[in-house]
Amino acid sequence: MIPSRKSKAVGLFSGGLDSILATKLITEQGVTVVALHYRLPFGVPGREPTEEKLSKMASLVGASLMILDADDAYLQLVRSPQFGHVKQLAPCIDCLVFMLAKAKELAREIKADFVFTGEVVGQRAVCQNKRALKQIEKAVGLEGRLLRPLSAKLLEPTIPELTGLVRRERLLDLKGRSRRRQIRLAHEFGIFDYPIPGAGCMLLDKNFAARARDAVKHDQLALPETELLKYGRHFRLESGAKVVVGRNEAENKRLEELAREDDVLCKPLEVMGPVAILRSQKKTKKDTEIAARICARYSDAPAGKPVKLTCAGKNVSVKPYKDEDFVALRVQAQESENVDPVPAPAAEVPKKRRSKAAK
Ligand code: SF4
Repeated sequence: MIPSRKSKAVGLFSGGLDSILATKLITEQGVTVVALHYRLPFGVPGREPTEEKLSKMASLVGASLMILDADDAYLQLVRSPQFGHVKQLAPCIDCLVFMLAKAKELAREIKADFVFTGEVVGQRAVCQNKRALKQIEKAVGLEGRLLRPLSAKLLEPTIPELTGLVRRERLLDLKGRSRRRQIRLAHEFGIFDYPIPGAGCMLLDKNFAARARDAVKHDQLALPETELLKYGRHFRLESGAKVVVGRNEAENKRLEELAREDDVLCKPLEVMGPVAILRSQKKTKKDTEIAARICARYSDAPAGKPVKLTCAGKNVSVKPYKDEDFVALRVQAQESENVDPVPAPAAEVPKKRRSKAAK
C-alpha cells in the first residue's frame, strides 16, 4: 500500500548505537522523525551525551531532536515501580513505560503515526524479552503502534507495517546481546562516531543502589539529591544526618560544587585529604565532630595523630576515627562492607616491612 502523505514518527533516542540505527532505519524510508531524548537523573557522570552530541547524532540520521527532563514523577517509579526493580534499583520496565508515555503524548500533539524504540529482542533478559516488550506496549496503550525496527521481523507486524507506512522487509531481525551486527550496520550507514554500548545507568550499580535505597528510606530521594548520590563515600549517622566524603580530587571538586549553603563543609588544613559534606536539617556539635573525624580518617595524616581541619568555616583539630569505630555507618552494598583500605602512612609502617620495602 502506498502511503497518501509523508508519515511521521516519534522515536525514543538515548543517543546510543541502537537508537541511532533504529532512527536511521525509519528516516531512510522517508518518514519524518522526532527523536525524543529523555534526560534521566541517574546517568553515569562523564557518560551522559551532551546536547550538542545528541543533536549531531540526530541530524546525522535525519531526525530532529527534542530533549525532555525527568521530573519527580520519575523518582516515584524508582521508589515503587509497578513492574518491580529489574536489577538493583533499576525499574527498567516502568522507566520505558514512562518515557514511551511521553513519546505517545508528543506523537498525539504532532499528529505522528507511530512510535518506535531501539529495543532489541533478548538484549536484556528481563525487560527485552518478547513478553516484556508486549507488556510495555500494553501498559503504555500503544498496541500495534509501537515499532521496534531492529527486531521487527521477529515480532508481530505493527500497524505502520501493515498499512505500508513502513516497509517491513527493510527492517531487521536482530536479537541477543552481541552488538556485532549493529556495528557493521553503523559502518554501512557511514556512522563511525557512536558511543560505546554498555550500561549508562547508575541504578544498575550495587553501591549506588545501596545509597539510593538509603535515600528512599530517609525520604530524601529528591531531584537535587540524586546528583550527590553519585559521588563519594556515604555515611548515615545515628541522628539521620548524612556525611559524604570525596574519594579523589575530581570528586572533592564536585562535592564542593554540590554543597548547599546550609551544609557543613570540612577539609584538612595542613595535609592532603578529602572534602566532606555534612547534610542534615539539624546540625549538632556531635554530628559535626563525627563528620570531621571521618574526613580526618581519609586524610594523609599519620593514623592516630590529630588533624587540623576547617569545618563550617572554623578551624578545628580532631582525632581521626579508627575503621572499626565508624564502618557501621557506611552506606554501601551488603557484600562489601569494609571501609576503603587506605595505605598506612610511611610513619605508621612497621620497621620490618619498611626496610623490606626499601630494598
Ligand atoms: S537501565 Fe536505567 S535508564 Fe535504562 S531502562 Fe533501566 S532504569 Fe531506565
